[in-house]
Formats: sequence, structure tokens, C-alpha cells
Amino acid sequence: MNQHLRSQPIPFIDIGAQRRRLGKSIDEAVLRVLSHCQFINGPEVTQLEAQLAAFSGAKHVVSCASGTDALLMVLMAKGIGPGDAVLCPSFTFCATGESVALTGATPVFVDVDEATFNIDVESLKRGIATARKLGLKPAAVIPVDLFGQSADHDAIAAVAMSEGLFVLDDAAQGFGASYKGRRLGTLALATATSFFPAKPLGCFGDGGAIFTDDTALAETLRSVRVHGQGSDKYDNVRLGLTGRLDTMQAAILIEKLKIFEDEIAARNEVAERYARGLGNIMIVPQLAKGCTSVWAQYTIRLPKTVGRDQFAAALKAQGIPTAIYYPKSLHQQTAYRNFPVAEGGLAVSERLSQDVISLPMHAYLDEATQDRIIAAVRGAVSA
Ligand SMILES: *Cc1c(COP(=O)(O)O)cnc(C)c1O
Repeated sequence: MNQHLRSQPIPFIDIGAQRRRLGKSIDEAVLRVLSHCQFINGPEVTQLEAQLAAFSGAKHVVSCASGTDALLMVLMAKGIGPGDAVLCPSFTFCATGESVALTGATPVFVDVDEATFNIDVESLKRGIATARKLGLKPAAVIPVDLFGQSADHDAIAAVAMSEGLFVLDDAAQGFGASYKGRRLGTLALATATSFFPAKPLGCFGDGGAIFTDDTALAETLRSVRVHGQGSDKYDNVRLGLTGRLDTMQAAILIEKLKIFEDEIAARNEVAERYARGLGNIMIVPQLAKGCTSVWAQYTIRLPKTVGRDQFAAALKAQGIPTAIYYPKSLHQQTAYRNFPVAEGGLAVSERLSQDVISLPMHAYLDEATQDRIIAAVRGAVSA
């Protein structure tokens, strides 16, 4: 490899490579929408919902405007509000806790497991007790399938069942992953996902979807999606949102869904190459038994002897971008620091926020480029 190639900047997520692969099929899908002009509730929206239901195994799919709306709409449909506690991990993207706080309910933050980054069931139990002590009614838990790996849904369901909570799965990063042979979408009362462009299945703007087997809930969600409409268009029966997915985004997603399986396989190959190349010098992500990942992120933990800023700078100097998900857990952020945390504290979330860093990860990362990243990471760690 010549010096020029060695220092070419590498994209963190290569949306362009996928765009080139899909080429005309996307252009044609968009042109179809431009010619039928049904920009809202066009035929592609219903078609996509049916295809997502078939893909996930869920009975109902309600597409919507974003992953955040997907979470919020479920909480609204279930009547979550002031006095309710909704348990969620602190080590996640802000939208998980934000959707709870927007309803007037109280997010209660719980810790995560050090190996999988996903919700720690013992901390969840402590969080439920904490909520009760504060006079709140524990109403729901939102596990997150962080970085693409399924959470331990059986263990979460068992706690939820015995404590009388419903489960809303935040699969914004994990859609396409499975748990004990079942795709996410069927492992909770409702599952929310996001089609933000950088997610494993992304559109060309904002979008999201909700998966559920509960027919009554699906119906309520369809009402919430359009301002709480009832059967009489001018008698709105509840509060809702402008929560629809654009027809154009649905048309794009239909084309992307065709190659999604193939992309998931490619992402898994990239993850395996990283593990082979880096596993002996640092903590690489581990899949729990029965769990698969769609590798929304490939997040490593740096050894204590390696400063994260210097590490990122060393890679950047070689054209290799990194990102930190998440430098602050939710309970450490300004908007969320006054909400309760589970008894015993959130030591793992705090530790992870200190030492995680994510490497370029996408379905189009070729071997030569990945070898360059692995060599740079090894160099930066041993420097
Ligand atoms: C991206 C993300 C969301 C929100 O999705 P948007 O489509 O950006 O609103 C929610 N939860 C998690 C864990 C996410 O990563």
C-alpha cells in the first residue's frame, strides 16, 4: 500500500457505499412517489409495514416519524404520565430517557452489565424498589439493545411480570438482531426502532417504527400517530402527534430492506475480523449466549494505561475516525441529573463512559481498510 492510500480518510459509517450499491433502485422508488404524489400515507407506507412485520415476526407494525416518536407514542398510548416510574438504563442515547420525561413520568436510571453494555437485571430490581420508596408507581421498563446487541429479554420479562410492569424494547440500534432465535420486535409488549440514516436500517431522513402483537395497542398507536384521531375525523379522542413516516422514506426503506439480511451478515464478518485482530490486546464486545448483534457500533474498551484522547488523536492522524458513545451516561447529563437512580448507584455506566470508544463499522468496510484500522489501533495502544 502506498503512503497516499495509507492516509486516505476512512468514513465512520459509509452511507455512500450503500447508496452506490442500490443505485437506480432507489432513484426509481423515489420517482414512483414523485409521480403518484401521495406523499402522506401513500401505498409504500402500508407495504413497508407489512414487510417489516414479515421480517420481524411481529403481528403489527406502526411506522412513524422517528425512533424517539416510536418510544413516546407507546408511552402515550399506554397512558404513562406523572406519578409513573419508567426504568431505563443510564448508559444509552438520550432519547430513551427523554421519551419518558416528555410524558411527565419519571425516568429511573438503572445500571448496565459490564460485558454486554445492556441493562443489569439486579440493578433493575433495585431501581423498582427505589421508585416505590419515592412514592412512584413502577409502570414500565425500557431495555435498550445497545450497539445492536439484544438485551437479556427473558430475564427482563421475568422481572417485569413479577413486578407488574410492561416492557417497551428500545431497538433503535438493534433492529435485525435476535434473541434465542427470535428477531427483536416480538420480545416485549412493544418494540421501537429508528430509521435515522446511521442506524443499521436507515432511511434518507428521519423515520421509525413500532412492533407489537397487541391488536388494541396497535390501534391506539395509529390514533396517537395522527393527533389522537377517533373514528370521526373531527373528534379527536386523545392527545397525539404528527407522527407519520413520509411515503418517500417508506419507498427508500423498501429497497434497503431487500439487502438488509446481507448487510447484517457483512457487519458480523467485520465484527469477527475486529475481534480476531484486537481481542488479545483490549476488551472487545462480547455477545451473550443466545444473543446476536447487528453491530450498530463496534465499541471497544481501552486498557487503563491508554488515554482515550491520545488514542483518538493517534487514529485521527492516520485518517481513522472514532466516536464516543457515550461520554456521559444519562444520569450525568444536565437535563437528567435530577432524576432518580437505582439504589447502589450506576458504577458500571460511569466506568464505561470513561473508557469506551467506537471504531468505524458498516457493511462495506473492506478487509484492507479494516486491516489498516486494526494496525493503527494496535500501534496506538502499544505506543
Ligand atoms: C437513535 C436512538 C433513538 C432515537 O431515534 P431517532 O430516530 O433519532 O429519534 C432512541 N434510542 C436509541 C438507543 C437510539 O440509539
